Amino acid sequence: MNILKNCMLCPRKCGVNRYEKKGLCGANDKIKIAYYSLHMWEEPIISGKNGSGTIFFSNCNMKCIYCQNKKISIDGYGKYISRKKLSEIMLKLQNMGAHNINLVTPTHYVPQIAYSLKKIKNNKLYIPVVYNTSSYENIITLKMMDNLLGIYLVDLKYYDDQLEFNYSGCRNYFEYATLAIDEMFRQVGEYKFNEQGLMTRGLVVRILILPGHLDDAKIIIKYLYKTYKDDIFISIMNQYTPVNHCIYNNLNRKLTEDEYNDVIKYALELGVKNAFIQDGDTAEESFIPKFNCNIIDWFFY
Ligand code: SF4
Repeated sequence: MNILKNCMLCPRKCGVNRYEKKGLCGANDKIKIAYYSLHMWEEPIISGKNGSGTIFFSNCNMKCIYCQNKKISIDGYGKYISRKKLSEIMLKLQNMGAHNINLVTPTHYVPQIAYSLKKIKNNKLYIPVVYNTSSYENIITLKMMDNLLGIYLVDLKYYDDQLEFNYSGCRNYFEYATLAIDEMFRQVGEYKFNEQGLMTRGLVVRILILPGHLDDAKIIIKYLYKTYKDDIFISIMNQYTPVNHCIYNNLNRKLTEDEYNDVIKYALELGVKNAFIQDGDTAEESFIPKFNCNIIDWFFY
C-alpha cells in the first residue's frame, strides 16, 4: 500500500515509510491486534444484550498518560494478522452474535481495515461497523471509511491546548477533532435505531471528565450541543481510572460524585436531551479489559 510509504494518516504526519520503520503511533505496515471479543461495556445502544464485537488494535496515535489500555496502546502488545484474517475475525464475531463490529482505535490501520471491510461488506457482513476513536484524525483518512461504517463512537477529549499537550502529547487536538467530527456526521447523518433499540447509524461523542478539569468538559458539551443539538448522542463519563503511571497529582484520583453531578447539571441546564450518564462508581480496574493473545491463537488454527 503506497500510502504507508509516506504515512500521513493522522495529524502526527510522521511521513515515515512504514515498511521500513514504525511511526510515532508504534505501527508498521502490518495490522496488529491485541484481542477481540463480545464486549458488554459500551453504551447500551451499542452493546445491547449480546455485546459489541470488539477488535482492539495495538498501538495508538495519542499518548495519553492516563490510558487504561497502556499495554496495547503504548507498549504495543498484540499479534500481527493479515488483512484476510481481519475479515475472518469480523465474520467470526458476527457469527458469535455480535450486534456490531467495533473497531477500537483503528486510525493507524485505516487503509488495511478498509481493504478487509470491502471484501465482506456487501455480501457477508451485514451488522453495522463502529469506528471507535480518540478523534485525533485527518479528514482524508476518514474519507477512506466513507460508506463502510454505520456508527462513529468517538471521544472529544480536550478543549484546552495545555491539557492536550501535557496529557496526550498532541498539538491542535480540538481543531483536528472537531473537523473530524464534522466529517463523521456528514458520513453517517442523523441517528437510526433498529426494533431492538440498538443504534444502526449515527454519532456518539464521549466526554471523559478528568478530575479537576470540569470547565474543559463543560466547554466541550456546550460546543457539541450548539453545533449538533440532539442530532447526535453525547456520553458523559465518570469512569476515569487513575493508573500508576500518571505523573500529575490531580490525575491520581477518581472523579468525585459532586464533580460528576456538577457537569450533568450543566448539560441539563443547557437543554441536552440525548445523553448517556453513568450510574454509581464505574471507576474500577475491573472495567479495564485483560488483554492476552490466547483467543487470537485459538482462532488462527
Ligand atoms: S498513523 Fe502513525 S505513522 Fe502515520 S502519521 Fe500517524 S503516527 Fe505517524
